[in-house]
Amino acid sequence: MKFAGIIVDISHESLDRTFQYIVPDELCDRVRPGMGVVIPFGKGNKKINGYITEITDKPEIAIERLKYIESINEKNVQIESVLISLAEYIKERYGCTMNKALKTVIPVKESIKSKEKKYLTLNVSEKEAYELYDKYSDRKNTLSRAKLILELINTDEMEYNMAISKLSVSDSVIKALCKASIIKINRTEIYRNPVGNLKQDDAKIELNIDQKYVSDRIIKSIDGGDLRPKLIFGITGSGKTEVYMEIIENTIKKGQEVIVLIPEISLTFQTIKRFYKRFGNIVSIINSKLSKGERYDQFQRAKNGDVKIMIGPRSALFTPFNNLGLIIIDEEHEGAYKSDSVPKYHARDVAIKRAELTGAAVVLGSATPSVSTYYKAQKGEYELYKLEKRANNLSLPDVDIVDMRQELESGNKDIFSNRLKSLIADRLNKKEQIMLFINRRGYSSFVSCRKCGKSIKCPHCDVTLTLHRRRGGDVLSCHYCGYQIDSPKTCPVCQSKYIGKFGTGTEKVAERIEEEFKGVRVLRMDMDTTREKGSYESILSEFESGSADVLVGTQMIVKGHDFSNVTLVGIIAADISLYASDYMAAERTFCLLTQAAGRAGRGNIPGNVVIQTYNPDEKCIVYSANQDYEKFFENEIAYRKLMTYPPVYDMMAILITDKNEEFAMNATIDIANRIEKSNIENLRIIGPSKAAVSKINDVYRNVIYLKHEDGDTLIKVKNAILKYIGMVERYKKLQIQFDFNPMSLY
Ligand code: ADP
Ligand code: ZN
Ligand code: ZN
Repeated sequence: MKFAGIIVDISHESLDRTFQYIVPDELCDRVRPGMGVVIPFGKGNKKINGYITEITDKPEIAIERLKYIESINEKNVQIESVLISLAEYIKERYGCTMNKALKTVIPVKESIKSKEKKYLTLNVSEKEAYELYDKYSDRKNTLSRAKLILELINTDEMEYNMAISKLSVSDSVIKALCKASIIKINRTEIYRNPVGNLKQDDAKIELNIDQKYVSDRIIKSIDGGDLRPKLIFGITGSGKTEVYMEIIENTIKKGQEVIVLIPEISLTFQTIKRFYKRFGNIVSIINSKLSKGERYDQFQRAKNGDVKIMIGPRSALFTPFNNLGLIIIDEEHEGAYKSDSVPKYHARDVAIKRAELTGAAVVLGSATPSVSTYYKAQKGEYELYKLEKRANNLSLPDVDIVDMRQELESGNKDIFSNRLKSLIADRLNKKEQIMLFINRRGYSSFVSCRKCGKSIKCPHCDVTLTLHRRRGGDVLSCHYCGYQIDSPKTCPVCQSKYIGKFGTGTEKVAERIEEEFKGVRVLRMDMDTTREKGSYESILSEFESGSADVLVGTQMIVKGHDFSNVTLVGIIAADISLYASDYMAAERTFCLLTQAAGRAGRGNIPGNVVIQTYNPDEKCIVYSANQDYEKFFENEIAYRKLMTYPPVYDMMAILITDKNEEFAMNATIDIANRIEKSNIENLRIIGPSKAAVSKINDVYRNVIYLKHEDGDTLIKVKNAILKYIGMVERYKKLQIQFDFNPMSLY
C-alpha cells in the first residue's frame, strides 16, 4: 500500500504540515510528487485541492484513521505543481527534507499583510439613502452619519481614510453604518512596487551586427523548439544586456513571462533602470533589501499578471509565473548562484530544471563562463554564442603583470609596485579615476613565501595546505587527505624567512595611498563600509560623480560597473584567491582578474591595468592578463580531467556533525566503510577526514568526498546512506548534510 504526504493549500499555515492519505490502488502507478489531487478534508469531508509532496510505504498513523485520495486533479497545471516538482528535484539532488525544499521554492507569506486601500460605498439604493439622510440629519447625535451618506450619494465612492480625515467621521460611525448594511467597505490591495517611480521611454539602442546576429539566432533556436540552454560568451562591455532584452521582447510578445537572474551585487539601480526604460511597469525586482511583505507582494503581482519580467538574485527563480517562457542568468559564473545554506542548490541547475518542466528557454551569459558551463557548451549540451568585441568598439586595456618578488629584491617593500605608483601619479595628474582592487578571498588562511612566491602544498595532493590557528602553534593541513604539519617558520623551498599570511587589507591600502599622494580623495568599499542599507549605491554614485579620485575595494568593486572616467585598475595582490585550497581556486582567480581588468577604459580613454603578483607565471594570471579565456579553459579542463574534478566528474561532499567528537568520527568512518563496501565501480572516495573548520559552536565536523563520472550514481549513494542511517538506532539524531558539486570545500 502506498501513502501520500499532501499539503492542502499553499499558504503559510499549511506549509508546515503535510497530511497523509492512502493512494487508491488504481492511482498507484500515476501519482508523483507535485501532482494536484482532490482529497476529502476535515470533519465534513469537504472536497478540497491538495498537492502531493511525497510518497512512501510507511503510514504515519494507524491505517484505519487515514482517508483515501479522491482523484487526480487533471486540470491542475497550476504553478504550484511546477514549484512542488522543483522542490522534489531539489530534495533529491541536494539532499534535504521536503519541507526545507518547499520553503525554498514557495514564497511564504510570513503573515505580513500587503497594504490595502479601503473604500466606502453605499449599500442601499439612492432613494433609500436620501430617506436615511433625512432621518439622520434631524437628530443631533446622528449628524455625522447624515454627512457621510450625503457625501456617498454625491461621490459614489470615498476612501476610508478620507472619510475620517476630511469629514471627521469616526470609526465607530462607519462601523455602525456597515453593521446596518447601509454602507459597505471595498478593499483593494495595493502591492508595493519598489520601482514604481521609474519611467518607460521609447529610446532603444540599435543593436550592432554582432549583437543582432546572436539575438536572431537565439530567438530562432528558441522559437524552433531547441530548448538546450544557450550560453552567450561575450567579453565585458560587449552588450550582452541589450541582447537579453531583445530575446525578452520576443518572449513577451508571445505572451510569456521572463525571469532574469543577476547576482545581488550587480542588481543596481542602473541595471533596473535599463530594463524599466525598455519594458515599463511589467518589470519588477526582488532583492534581499526588500521587506518580506514587499517580496511577497512582488510574487503576488507576478501571479496576477501585473509583472511579466522579474529581476533578482537566486530566489527570483521561484517567481510563480504560470506561463514562463525564458530564464536569463547573467554573470552565470558567479559563486553567489550557489546557495550556502541547506538546500545547497545551484540556481543554474535548478533554472534548467524549471525550464525543462515548463518548456521554457534558458540563456546564460558571462565574460568568463564557469568551467562547468563552457565544458557543456563544448560538448554541445549547451549552445554557444560569442560576442568578441566591445559594443562601442573600444579596445581592451593594456595589462602589465608586475612580479612582486622582484620588487622585494630591488628593495621595494611597499604594497605598491613602482609601475603602479607611477601610473597612479599620472592619472591623478590627468584628473582621471583609479580603482584599486584587493582580492581578499581566502585571506590569511594560507601561508606563502614573499621571496619565491610559493605557497605550501600537500605532498599527496595538488592543493595548498590550509592554515589552522591552534593554541599550541599553527598547523597546515590538507583538506583532501588529512596530511598535517606544523606551520613552518621559514620557506621549505627557498628557506627565506619572509613567510606568512598576507597583511594587505583595504584599510591599509587606502591609508598608504593617502600617505603617498597628498590630498588624494579616497573611497573605500568593503564589508565594513557597506553594512548600511543603500551604502553600496551611495559609494558607487559618489565615485561616479567624480568626488573621489580612487576607489579601493574588495571583489565588490569588480562586478559590472561602468565608470567612464576610470582609466587605471590596480590589482594589489592577485594571488590571494589562488591559495584557497580547493579545485576552483584558479577559476575564481582568472575570473576575478579578468572582470577587474574589464573595468578599465570603458569611456573614450583607453585604460591600463596593473596586476601585482608573486606568481607571474601562474597560468590563470597570464591568461587573464591576455584576456584569453579559451587558453585558460583548455589548461584548466586538462587539470580537472587529470584530477577527476568537476565538471569532468561530479562530486559530493558529505558533512557529518555531532557534539560528541568520537561519535561523529566513528559515524563518519562507518559511513565511509559502508560506501567502500558497496563496491561501486569508478567511485572515488576521499576521506573520511576532519573538516577544515573542524569545530563550530562545539559541534565537530567531519567530511567525506565522493567523485564519480555520473552524478546520478552519487545521488543513489546519497539515498542509500540516508536509508542506512534511517535503519540504525544510534544514528537517529545524526546530523548529515550533502553538497552536490560543492563550490568551496569543508
Ligand atoms: P555587457 O552586459 O556585455 O557587459 P552592456 O550590455 O552593459 O554589456 O553594454 C556595455 C555598454 O555598451 C553599455 O553602456 C551599453 O549601453 C553600450 N551598448 C550596448 N550595445 C550597444 C550598441 N549596439 N550601440 C551602442 N552602445 C551599446
Ligand atoms: Zn620561498
Ligand atoms: Zn593532501
